[in-house]
Amino acid sequence: MTMIPMKKSLSLLATVPLIAVLASCGSDDGPGAGGGTTTVAASFYPFAFVAERVGGSFVDVENLTSPGVEPHDLELKPKQVGTVQDADLVIYEEHFQAAVDDAVDQADRAEGGTLDIASVVTLKPTQAGAEEGHADEGTDQEHDHGDDDPHTWLDPENMIAITKAVEAKLVALDPDHADDYAANAAELTGELTTLGTDFATGLQTCKTRTVVTSHAAFQYLAARYDLTQVPIAGIDPSNEPSPAQLADITQLVNTQGITTIFTEELVSPAIADTIAKETGATTATLDPIEGLSDDTSDETYLTLMRKNLKNLTKANSCS
Ligand SMILES: [Zn+2]
Repeated sequence: MTMIPMKKSLSLLATVPLIAVLASCGSDDGPGAGGGTTTVAASFYPFAFVAERVGGSFVDVENLTSPGVEPHDLELKPKQVGTVQDADLVIYEEHFQAAVDDAVDQADRAEGGTLDIASVVTLKPTQAGAEEGHADEGTDQEHDHGDDDPHTWLDPENMIAITKAVEAKLVALDPDHADDYAANAAELTGELTTLGTDFATGLQTCKTRTVVTSHAAFQYLAARYDLTQVPIAGIDPSNEPSPAQLADITQLVNTQGITTIFTEELVSPAIADTIAKETGATTATLDPIEGLSDDTSDETYLTLMRKNLKNLTKANSCS
């Protein structure tokens, strides 16, 4: 996407959603004032989940990545560019979704109404194996994703930091409901803390600590709980491995006694199936929770992470 059409569509559309927002707020003069709702645009599911839990009934959250859509390389519709312009709060992570970065850069947003998660958590450099996946592409597409691994939300500790940051933003935008936001954030933090404890306990003693994943989404999770991630695809699921990399992974599975090749909901399992077939391993789901799908529409970040834990402990023979 070039810069010029984006600017054009922005200027054409900027006024339309503004009228809609004014109409829905009646005579109220600010977010949350007199019972109005604070509008939040979240760039993809995990941030929408936190905004909904912390904001409760005082926020109206729009997820820019529709259910079933793989959020890497998201394209924004003109209406969504308008949402990025007009929402009281935009939550995104720089260098994960270039279209959202562009929309935020080009929007004329109020100071304090934007939350970049990359400034909230400590990013890790892209894992070596995942970089190789990129190199095969031979394009400068890699630079859209930066040199850091964006998959911060798969470490529950990072989700606690994100919860705290969302709370602070909502309190600043809508101080009338500060107590509600604090209570909601405390409740979610408690659940995330328990989740983290259960991961640490569940993965304490395992027969193997190597995890073969569909794409390189699990570095933060692996680092937190002392696992080693071997990704089939790169940081972006569309960066498929070379034949040589595939051969390496197949050999690793055979020599390390790995029982399970992990697949995910929003990415084709074809390559994982091939490796499983060649090695006699089984496949199971490890969800990077980049979005919900038809099959997971009743789930949340917390329930999907618990399924991930169950599948990890089974695959790695943890006791
Ligand atoms: Zn990913």
